[in-house]
Amino acid sequence: MSMTLFRVRFARRCAGVLAVAALAALVPGCSVNPATGKQQLNLISESQEVAMGREADPGIVAQMGLYPDQALQAYVQALGSGLAAKSERPHLPWTFRVLDDPLVNAFALPGGFVYVTRGIMAHLESEAELVGILGHEIGHVTARHSVNQLSKQQLAGLGIGIGMIVSPRMAQLGDLAQTGMGLLFLKYSRDDERQADGLGLRYVLRGNYDPREIPNVFGVLQRVSQASGGGRAPSWMATHPDPGQRQQTMAAEVARLQVDLSGTVVNARPYQQRLDGMVFGPNPREGYFEGDRFLHPDLAFSLDLPAGWKRENQKQALVAQSEAGDAILQMKLVDEASPAEAARKFVAQEGLTGGRVETGRVGGFTAASSLFEVPQDSGDLGGRVTFVRYNDRTYQLLGLTLTEKWSTYKGDLEGTLNSFRRVTDRKVLDVQPSRLALVDLDRRMTLAEFQKRYPSTVPIQTLGLINRLDSQGNLATNDLAKRVVGGPGG
Ligand SMILES: [Zn+2]
Repeated sequence: MSMTLFRVRFARRCAGVLAVAALAALVPGCSVNPATGKQQLNLISESQEVAMGREADPGIVAQMGLYPDQALQAYVQALGSGLAAKSERPHLPWTFRVLDDPLVNAFALPGGFVYVTRGIMAHLESEAELVGILGHEIGHVTARHSVNQLSKQQLAGLGIGIGMIVSPRMAQLGDLAQTGMGLLFLKYSRDDERQADGLGLRYVLRGNYDPREIPNVFGVLQRVSQASGGGRAPSWMATHPDPGQRQQTMAAEVARLQVDLSGTVVNARPYQQRLDGMVFGPNPREGYFEGDRFLHPDLAFSLDLPAGWKRENQKQALVAQSEAGDAILQMKLVDEASPAEAARKFVAQEGLTGGRVETGRVGGFTAASSLFEVPQDSGDLGGRVTFVRYNDRTYQLLGLTLTEKWSTYKGDLEGTLNSFRRVTDRKVLDVQPSRLALVDLDRRMTLAEFQKRYPSTVPIQTLGLINRLDSQGNLATNDLAKRVVGGPGG
């Protein structure tokens, strides 16, 4: 959860987009795509395509957050729009953003909205590598891949924000914790990927960047993917399969180029200098876990979750799910100043049967709570919602399960709802994120030597991923080396 209170009316917006898409589907048009030179069946006009991007962009920003560094945002915007200006669709409202997300990811929306995470930026070593990624994503937009891929279901998926979880339309309780951005990362076909790689290479060349840097990017992605070892693979991998193969294909393609690459730009050192001080890994100021306890330094509260539950600290909500996936907990901020008013409003929602609103105290703070039920064809849902007023903010705490499972989960759910407490421990309140620090190496050294001489607060494997090593495991001397300092463990 971050400090900011977001109110994204995503569902209604996307319903509008859906209607537009459905209407357009009645009059499909065929035209030559300017980037690929191929005939393309367009179900959606360019203005509709731009509208789709404009509609979805605020949701992305709200859910993932912008990295709070104006200079870095301006840098990526300038790089991206410079490249896009040389593309076949220069007139789109090209928008490039750095998201405040530790995962290694990059993606594009229809209409020219392109996103890179601070996570992917931390793993890159040069401006040319970043340009390689931007060029690839620009390629998806100019070739109109996502437009023709967006199915109605996927568009509808955008509307299933976590704030809507008591919607009677939600049949699959088990899917709740996975809603959010996951649905947005469309899986492109292999052909689309190949085409975006080809277009990306074209834009890199037009921008006078060194295309020999592009294969490195696939190398990084592959190593990050392997290191995550079946755990939480970087999202980019889910949509961009087989980086190893693509690294070889791209390297071969670059080798075949009949152009003089001597004057092309790499900009390794200037790029790396921009990463100095960048937040690395999850930002604990927005909340972190210590065992089953969730601690939020910025908002100075703690919450105890049931043991063994899966949990995710999203930008707008903290979500937890029972192991069997049949019960969930969710915490978020709401607008109402009065807990009682918020509770009455909650139980008055359509499709929901509310109980009596009881007022009292949780953790010493004014609170209001009610049981409720959500009748559904696929099995009624039941739960409890509690609102707590603390430090001029109102927190909504929600526990939800199938009505028939209420007696099983009542203890866990209500236990969490009643565990809201103020945090006064300075160790928690003062916690700082880990950050990248760049080191100018005076001599060649192995990663182990580097770690010994300039200790980092992350495992050496992580250091190996964010630094480029030669085949002997040495850090190059002509580059800056990245270390990670500070953080909850440092
Ligand atoms: Zn792609």
